[in-house]
Amino acid sequence: MSCQTTQELIHPYVDGELDLARSLEVEQHMQECQVCASAYRNQTALRSAFKDSSLYHSAPEKLEKRIRSSLRREAKSEAGRRSFGWRWLPAGAALAFVLLMAFVIWRPVPGIRPSGDELLAQEIVSNHVRSLQLESHRADVISSDQHTVKPWFDGKLDFAPPVKDFSSQGFPLIGGRLEYLNNRAVAALVYQRQKHYINLYIWPAEQSNAAGEVATKRQGYNLLHWTSSGMNYWAISDLNGVELHEFARLVQEAQ
Ligand SMILES: [Zn+2]
Repeated sequence: MSCQTTQELIHPYVDGELDLARSLEVEQHMQECQVCASAYRNQTALRSAFKDSSLYHSAPEKLEKRIRSSLRREAKSEAGRRSFGWRWLPAGAALAFVLLMAFVIWRPVPGIRPSGDELLAQEIVSNHVRSLQLESHRADVISSDQHTVKPWFDGKLDFAPPVKDFSSQGFPLIGGRLEYLNNRAVAALVYQRQKHYINLYIWPAEQSNAAGEVATKRQGYNLLHWTSSGMNYWAISDLNGVELHEFARLVQEAQ
């Protein structure tokens, strides 16, 4: 099974929509292919992030009370004329239910639909956290030598990521690994600053124009992203913003 087919089937696979034979083919491919296995892990991580309660909004208490009390009133008045009007009671309940659902569905909630960058930032945080959980996940090629790490990506990616060691500036290169982010295979370079790890994700930019640094903070991690020399860069670390910026500057100057 090809990578493309596997990646198309990851969604239905996660949803349990594939037949047994197809599922096994996907599983077998993922055992042999790090990129697709990573795509699968991202998909499940993203899914659990979406289950996060912060993305759901329930109706305010006031509205719920209003509907409940109108239901009670309805029930009382219906009880009074039960002999001839009982058939209309469910209609009142149904109407209240429809109103409640309409409110829940149509209420415009700013920010409920995350933008592309927000989704990507979430993906990157999940990826970063996972890479730290296990020593063996941190890097597929472990070396502070850029001449070892750079060629390791040959044939694994459809581009050559710029790889540079910044040991003398206090940011030694630890290694690199393949990841799947933003619907494509990307290079992840691992750097260290004292006890802090930095993941630097690189992949070709769709537009060639450079974009300045954008800093964000998520779940306690600092993220910096920019575009230069036709590449997208995302750096993430629990390092403070100032030092992460210093690191980003080194990467930019090295090009
Ligand atoms: Zn694959």
